[in-house]
Amino acid sequence: MNALTIESLEKIYQNGTIALKNVSLKVDDGDFFALLGPNGAGKSTLIGIISSLVTKTSGRVSIFDININESFGLARSMLGIVPQEVNFNQFETLDEILINQAGYYGIPRKEATEKSNYLLKKLKLWKQRKDISRTLSGGMKRRLMIARALIHDPKLLLLDEPTAGVDIEIRKTMWDFFKTLNSSGTTIILTTHYLEEAEHLCNRVGIIDGGSIIVDTSMTELLSKRNSESFILDCAEKYTDLPELGSASVLAIDDLRFEITVEKGTDLNGIFKELSKSGIDIKSMRNKGNRLETLFLDLTGSYE
Ligand code: ADP
Repeated sequence: MNALTIESLEKIYQNGTIALKNVSLKVDDGDFFALLGPNGAGKSTLIGIISSLVTKTSGRVSIFDININESFGLARSMLGIVPQEVNFNQFETLDEILINQAGYYGIPRKEATEKSNYLLKKLKLWKQRKDISRTLSGGMKRRLMIARALIHDPKLLLLDEPTAGVDIEIRKTMWDFFKTLNSSGTTIILTTHYLEEAEHLCNRVGIIDGGSIIVDTSMTELLSKRNSESFILDCAEKYTDLPELGSASVLAIDDLRFEITVEKGTDLNGIFKELSKSGIDIKSMRNKGNRLETLFLDLTGSYE
């Protein structure tokens, strides 16, 4: 079953900005899905629509096959949301915030208290449970938002930049927590600026740019692309057959041009020798470039 199904989603804001263009996306039950994209790509709009905080212009969104517009309450009960901005009552204690949230979902007080205690311990907030939340550090506030999102055991968790501004030590603890949560069956969608975070946690990746999904693939596939580069080769004369080229993958474009994809750093001389043996002389060659790489450079400021 899909944890999330998005079909032909469009969003045009009142001022005419087209934030999402015909977005379709599926997230499988059990996935840890990274939603990446540069600033202004449409991530927050997409997350906002899934969370029912932003109204869509057209299209459909279902959570575990439940249409969010037709059965809002039921769909909402399966969803946990950790937004970027702190949005709890900063004058309540941690205990109160969690137990009130549980009340919103109709969870009996005894059960709510047990769940709240469990989450406060798990997220290393136990000592602070009677404190007014305003006094928490930034990292603690974020962890409290995570605890609050999990109080009703959602099957799908949306994490919007959960570790932004959190120090490395705490980030690692949060990663371990997310991994355990995902292994125990919670589907997670994460937006992040840290490619390393997505790499470490996620099994699938969607990249959104200019309101469109430009990549929707597995992390393994994405990483294999990252380590490869493609060249377009122009032949001196028309060829009929292309030879096998060892580890390089070969794709014909027309009878004068073809594309090869090799692991970065591969010695191309061997490939030219093979081609020459098969009677193919190369007139010119250009690097095809890697859109993904460029995009990630924009995203992260560094590639490795
Ligand atoms: P991201 O989260 O990827 O940075 P957003 O979803 O915030 O992207 O924005 C997508 C586009 O929609 C941008 O061009 C942004 O300026 C525009 N946008 C976002 N919110 C609004 C709004 N409330 N009114 C008008 N335009 C908006």
